[in-house]
Amino acid sequence: MLGDRIKRARIAAGLSQRRAAELVGLSAMAISKFERGTLTPNSKTLIALGRAFRVRVEYFFRSSSPALQGIRYRKEPSLPKKILAKIEAIVIDHVERFLETLTLYPISPIESFQVPRRLPEVHDLDDVESVALKVRKAWRLGQDPIASVVGVLEEHGILVVIIEVPEGARFDGLAATADGTPIIVVGREWPGDRQRFTLAHELGHLVLDGRLPPGLDEEQACNRFAGAFLVPRERACAALGPHRTQLGSQELLLLKHEYGLSMAGWVHRAHELGIISHSLSTSIFKSFNELGWRTEEPGDPFPQEVSRLHEQLVQRALAENMISTAKAAELLGISTREMREQNPWEVVGAAAHQ
Ligand SMILES: [Zn+2]
Repeated sequence: MLGDRIKRARIAAGLSQRRAAELVGLSAMAISKFERGTLTPNSKTLIALGRAFRVRVEYFFRSSSPALQGIRYRKEPSLPKKILAKIEAIVIDHVERFLETLTLYPISPIESFQVPRRLPEVHDLDDVESVALKVRKAWRLGQDPIASVVGVLEEHGILVVIIEVPEGARFDGLAATADGTPIIVVGREWPGDRQRFTLAHELGHLVLDGRLPPGLDEEQACNRFAGAFLVPRERACAALGPHRTQLGSQELLLLKHEYGLSMAGWVHRAHELGIISHSLSTSIFKSFNELGWRTEEPGDPFPQEVSRLHEQLVQRALAENMISTAKAAELLGISTREMREQNPWEVVGAAAHQ
C-alpha cells in the first residue's frame, strides 16, 4: 500500500529508482525495498521522499486508491512505456484527489453521468448527427456555441483532467473510468479547439457505446458526433450556406473563433453535411498541408479550456471549515503557502458574525 504510493509518486515525478535514491541520500536497493513493501521508511525518509517527488507526505497515507479502468487512448500511442506510466500516474493522482474531495460532502455535489434517455437509433452517420442534437437538447444547450465544453461535461458527471503532457510525448488524449466516474484527459498546452474536439469525441464514445451497428466505424462516428455536438447541422448550414464552391481561410478562422471548432474541423463539417464536394475538401486539405496548417492553424489560437470544478469544491469545503488550509492544499496538489497566497481574504463576511 505505502510501497505502491511511493512507486507511483516516483514514476509521476519521472525519476528512476537510482535518481530517487541519490536525491534522498539512500541506495537504489532501499528505494526498491520501500516500493516492494519489504522495508518501511521512517518519517524523516518519508519527508525526504515527499520533497524529492514533490508530493506532500500525506500523499503516502491516502487511503482510497481507485484504479483506472478501461483506459483507452484516443490514438494508439507510440509512446514509450515509461511515459505512459507517467501519464497514468499523473491522472490517478488527480482522480484520487478529486474523489477524496467528493467524500467530504455527505451528499454528492455533482450529478453522476447518465446517457440521456430515448436517443434515436443509429443506422448511419446521419443518425449520429441526431444523437448529438438530442444530447444537446437533454442538456438544455440549445444550438448556440458552447462556451465551456469542460463545464458542460463536469456538470453532467464527467471528470475532465487537464494534464501537462510530459515533454516530447505525442499524446492525443485518453478516456477511462474510476469508481464508475467517466474520466477524459486532455493536454494543457493544446489549443482550445483541439481540447474541445477531443472532449466532444470522447463524449461520443460514452454516448454511442453499444449503439452502433456492425460496420459503422466507431472512430468515424465519434468524430461526426463531436462535429455535430460543437456545431449543430442547422447552424453549420446557416453559417456556410447550403452549397459552396470555395471556402475562405479568413471565413474559417472567424467561424473557428465563434464555435471553438478548428478550421480543419469546419472543412470536415462542410464536407460531411454536403455543403462542399469531396474534391473541394480534398483540395482544401492539400493546401492546408502545404501551408503547414494541419500542425498549426494561422491566426490567434482558440482560448484553452479550464476546469474549475475540483478547485471550487475544495474552496467551498474550506470556506465552510470542513477542512483546514493544509488539507485544502493537499487536495489541490499545491503547497500550503501557495494555498494561502490564493486565499488572501480568508472567509468573506466572517467578521460580521463576531
Ligand atoms: Zn475515439
